[in-house]
Amino acid sequence: MYHPKVTRISGTRLRVQHPSDVPVTLFARPDVPLEDRAVDELLRLLDSQGDLPSPARLQRVALTPDFHRGSGIPVGTVLQADGFLLPGAVGHDVGCGMRLHLTSLRREDVAPHLDRLERRLRALFFEGGRQIAMTGRQRQALLQGGVSSLLGLPGTGGLWDGLARQDPQREQERCDHTAQLRTPWLSPPQLGALRDWIGAPDDLTYDSQIGSLGGGNHFAEVQVVHRIIDPRAAHQWGIREGLVTVMIHSGSLGVGHWAGQLAARTARDAWPAGLPRPRSGVFPVMQDAAPDALRAVQSALQMAANFAAVNRLWLGQMTRAGLEEACGEMDFPLLYDAAHNFIWPEDGRWIHRKGAAPARGFAQMQDTPFAYTGEPVLVPGSMGASSFILAGRGNPEALWSASHGAGRQQARGDAMRGSQAEFSAFLEAFRVVTPLDWRRARPDIRERKRTELMQEAPFAYKGVGPVVETLREAGLAEPVAELRPLLTVKG
Ligand code: 5GP
Ligand code: MN
Ligand code: MN
Repeated sequence: MYHPKVTRISGTRLRVQHPSDVPVTLFARPDVPLEDRAVDELLRLLDSQGDLPSPARLQRVALTPDFHRGSGIPVGTVLQADGFLLPGAVGHDVGCGMRLHLTSLRREDVAPHLDRLERRLRALFFEGGRQIAMTGRQRQALLQGGVSSLLGLPGTGGLWDGLARQDPQREQERCDHTAQLRTPWLSPPQLGALRDWIGAPDDLTYDSQIGSLGGGNHFAEVQVVHRIIDPRAAHQWGIREGLVTVMIHSGSLGVGHWAGQLAARTARDAWPAGLPRPRSGVFPVMQDAAPDALRAVQSALQMAANFAAVNRLWLGQMTRAGLEEACGEMDFPLLYDAAHNFIWPEDGRWIHRKGAAPARGFAQMQDTPFAYTGEPVLVPGSMGASSFILAGRGNPEALWSASHGAGRQQARGDAMRGSQAEFSAFLEAFRVVTPLDWRRARPDIRERKRTELMQEAPFAYKGVGPVVETLREAGLAEPVAELRPLLTVKG
């Protein structure tokens, strides 16, 4: 039934065999679909790590229940590495992550205004309504310090006024540190094309990056708390049934593309002459042998993560502006923001997560507002389906990680050939805000957009229920609340 290298060892865990003695645990109940080709992809990556010069060692691999094929590295892969960094193991969208805001609105405050909300959000996200102007100085500050440095800057009107209403201390405490990394600057040749995006220090310009969602599975979703599962944690976090929440999923756009290229090139150039090149094409950076390369790679990745987190902050502000224009003024406190594609330094080792959320337990969250609950873990389902908020349990076999979503079960191309009738029924029942106005668009353009959107249809994703059940049963994270969407903005 399973891939020949995969054996079930418990109700929630499988072992992936590999000639190296690296322990690989895949967390999945029997009702979670698994893709053989994702296992093959992982095995190819592990094969190439046999070439590492000692003492660099891959220590453990954990695979989350949303595990599926990525491009080169499967999504849902967590690697613990000792003595080296694998920049290619975090995917192309460095710093991609989730952010969740609570509001002071209830379902009945929003439900009657959905038409207006949809119009406002379309204007803000897709019709030039956001008007976020920044100077080169501000862009450099956000690259070098992320969310906390941006919140300390004087604004330039428009949505900046909304930002000034966010509580900076709360933002700082409730963003994972990967959203606010203190980052050294790079040389002009290393910065390359990024310099054009940054611009001159005093030039105030709008740009195409800040405030855009990015395509595909990225989203801004207005949701309602449908069900409280853990009343104690929910109370601590201020989550009540019927409360409206906003979930943002977005990555590092062009900045991430720049960072990924710089990191890959640096890692390749720093590879010791004479050693066999890794067959997977994913080059490690040796911590002790290549300190300059390590610094450059880290700076590039950190800038991308800072950018992604700041962009999620702005996307949250845009959604807030839409909600306030439609429903009146409200509070908009942050619950949590964390990346799911990045390298975390932990205890002198490097935890690489590609499509996996950090899910640290009480002990690891001391000195944060989550010392009594564990780290919030955001597990979105798909557009139109439930999403979940969980509390991390710090499971060492899972490398303190959990799923970052339900995970794809159909490749994009397959999903586009799915049932048209099923998808049309879905689109009618559910509000998806896209750059296209369905009612006014030309039929042929509408058809094309619909086929593209089908890659994101609920049937293209695994059911989120068995994924969340696995996280609970295996002791990775404990479900706190279930959310249902009211409306989703897709890029
Ligand atoms: P990824 O980071 O791997 O691109 O996507 C993360 C997860 O987001 C997917 O596995 C999927 O479960 C979830 N997802 C994708 N689109 C949507 C959406 O429109 N709404 C919600 N709530 N979740 C989504
Ligand atoms: Mn993502
Ligand atoms: Mn992404």
